[in-house]
Amino acid sequence: MPIRVTPYTQTRNGAAVPLTKLDVTKSSIDKANAIRARTATATNAMLERDSDCYLQVLRSGGVVANHKRKEPHVLRQVADGVLIHQSEFCQSNAAVVQGPAGVLLIDPGILGSEIATLADDLRELGQPVVAGFSTHPHWDHLLWHARLGSAPRYGTARCAAASRVFLSDTNWKARIAAFIPPDIGEHVPLDLLGLITGLPAEATQIPWDGPRVRIIEHQAHAPGHAALLIEERGVLVAGDMLSDVLIPMLDLNHTGDPIQDYLAALRLLEGAAGDVDVVIPGHGSIGGADQVRARIEQDRAYMDALRDGHVLSDPRIGPSAEDGWDWVAGVHERQLERLRELAASDGHANS
Ligand SMILES: [Zn+2]
Repeated sequence: MPIRVTPYTQTRNGAAVPLTKLDVTKSSIDKANAIRARTATATNAMLERDSDCYLQVLRSGGVVANHKRKEPHVLRQVADGVLIHQSEFCQSNAAVVQGPAGVLLIDPGILGSEIATLADDLRELGQPVVAGFSTHPHWDHLLWHARLGSAPRYGTARCAAASRVFLSDTNWKARIAAFIPPDIGEHVPLDLLGLITGLPAEATQIPWDGPRVRIIEHQAHAPGHAALLIEERGVLVAGDMLSDVLIPMLDLNHTGDPIQDYLAALRLLEGAAGDVDVVIPGHGSIGGADQVRARIEQDRAYMDALRDGHVLSDPRIGPSAEDGWDWVAGVHERQLERLRELAASDGHANS
């Protein structure tokens, strides 16, 4: 049976819909506007809260449009043997890499119904999940669903350690709930969150029976963040790097010099991405070969501007941001504020 690959597009509010089902009505626009208004309120409230490094990302919610839609969920082929499923939440991309006996599933998704459907589709195809991978220890990349089965789920050693520490707090579900937009809270399956096995620190590839998947660990967005390079497919799975809708979001809790670390991570990706034809970001649009370079340059320009205090011009912030992504400007403001706080405390420490 052929895998269900449907030509699709994205509505302006980020929901992926089959081309044949695109139907923008006044009520859908009103609904999207209402969601955006709620999201903006939630964003402001959440940005006031403490910054727990494992939770901070996407606490601002973003796009939660139409998660009760009736259209079928779809897998979309982006390269030979590589498919994605894009969640309606923040254009979150799950990546599926086909191997001889089953698939590797990277960052499975957000909503329980989406992940369960993905699991069923893969089972129907006779391609069970034989391995999982979480690119980093933030909630939206650590989810799992019982229907995916009990394949080993991997992450870098640092990612697994961070997840373990977080789960050791008996109150972790309540802590995470505070960061999940209320619109989707009841639809996010938390039971199997973060149960990953850390690979040895020196591991350079994922141990599985399939195309070689190289681990490119770096210190940028989260502890133990890893991009994955599937060389023989020309695919880079970037985790929460190289997005066309999200600005670089720094790990402001764990690194001495977050900007330099982020720039070093971009150089690492640049060095690895020479022959990449497809980039799959954790959130946003899939990019072609030209986009790999363009996104690295765009993120580098953002970091340079942060470092040097330039006036920032970035299409992901301000009026040019995609509809539903206006909250990214708030993330930028919060980063600026935290960097100023860090610089001030450094000044005190050095005086
Ligand atoms: Zn994310």
